Amino acid sequence: MFGGRSIQVARVFGVRIGVDVSWFFVFFLVIYLMSQNYRQIFPGQETKAFVLAVVSAILFFLSILLHELGHALTAKRLGIGIASIDLWLFGGIAKMERDTRSAGEEFKVAAAGPAVTLIIAAVCFGVASLISGVDAAARGTALEDSGVSGTVAVLGWLALVNISLLLFNLIPGFPLDGGRIARAIAWWRTGDRTKATRFAARLGRGFSLLMIVAGLLIAFVLGDLFGGIWLVVIGFFLGSAARQSEHQNEVQSRIEGIRVSDVMDAEPVAISTELSLDRAFDEFFLRYGWPWFPVVDHEGRLKGVVAADSVESVPEQVRPTRTVASVMAADSGGSGLRVDFHEPLEALLGREGLQRLGAIMAVDAEGVLRGVVTADQVRQALRPVGP
Ligand SMILES: [Zn+2]
Repeated sequence: MFGGRSIQVARVFGVRIGVDVSWFFVFFLVIYLMSQNYRQIFPGQETKAFVLAVVSAILFFLSILLHELGHALTAKRLGIGIASIDLWLFGGIAKMERDTRSAGEEFKVAAAGPAVTLIIAAVCFGVASLISGVDAAARGTALEDSGVSGTVAVLGWLALVNISLLLFNLIPGFPLDGGRIARAIAWWRTGDRTKATRFAARLGRGFSLLMIVAGLLIAFVLGDLFGGIWLVVIGFFLGSAARQSEHQNEVQSRIEGIRVSDVMDAEPVAISTELSLDRAFDEFFLRYGWPWFPVVDHEGRLKGVVAADSVESVPEQVRPTRTVASVMAADSGGSGLRVDFHEPLEALLGREGLQRLGAIMAVDAEGVLRGVVTADQVRQALRPVGP
């Protein structure tokens, strides 16, 4: 959903704040639209309109950032690490290092962002009212050209935009905040996170369809082309995010509770480090026809992997005098070739050995080879069950 890396603009409470290139589009669009607007409120004051528009865009950016910080800092308080906050075309996203572990946690993290947005809207409206009365503040919110000051106009717009953000975020479709709140409630009621996520993601797909249909109506029936298309695009992104979350959820639920030891071949064929290369060639490579074998010492501890190429590169007449240990790719733990056989299957995903060799050696705490997991076995375990 988020192509490419964002540009880091700040670090707040140790959290990396980044902006995606698409975000600049929104930033300049806000400046453009708001200068038009302020020009109507303050006729003939081009510079003032432009300055107010820039201030508005910056405060809008800060509003979204504070919303995301609300999620992030709540997560942090619950012991969930925050990788980064990224702002892009449709707002912000706080990337958590792990999923929440209970419905209560999920609810607190999900609700914190909208709560911050509500507070910002209330503060903006409150300050505008203090400056020039509730009536003027309301006129600022309505973006009317009826003699409000620049500050009140900006605060009024900010209150309005934050209320809109709040309403949008509370749409109960995952992965929007409202959808996460819906997931938390379903999770709390059923005690089943997988089912709750599936339910909330389906709501997300439903609302995405509604937005697309409403957007098309707004664009082609009501004639607001820009607003309509914008809604269609947002609906489209919500739908694809919901589908993606649903898919991740299914994969996660399938592999939950599965350990490396459940899928590995528990009787791996391994070669001893001390075996001579001629015997290794005849008794293993010729006999089994496999491209490589794990290599173990006399206590069965994994020492490395030996490939057919490496044996074949040694001239035939010297093979009886050389051992497997002399040509193997040694492994003492850091090369990504091994995994503890008690680990969850999830730990295997993205392992280097799985991509390079097509397999990973499963070892116990003493480093003894207990099995081999191939990429095929992992794929098999991830495959959906049923017809
Ligand atoms: Zn949020």
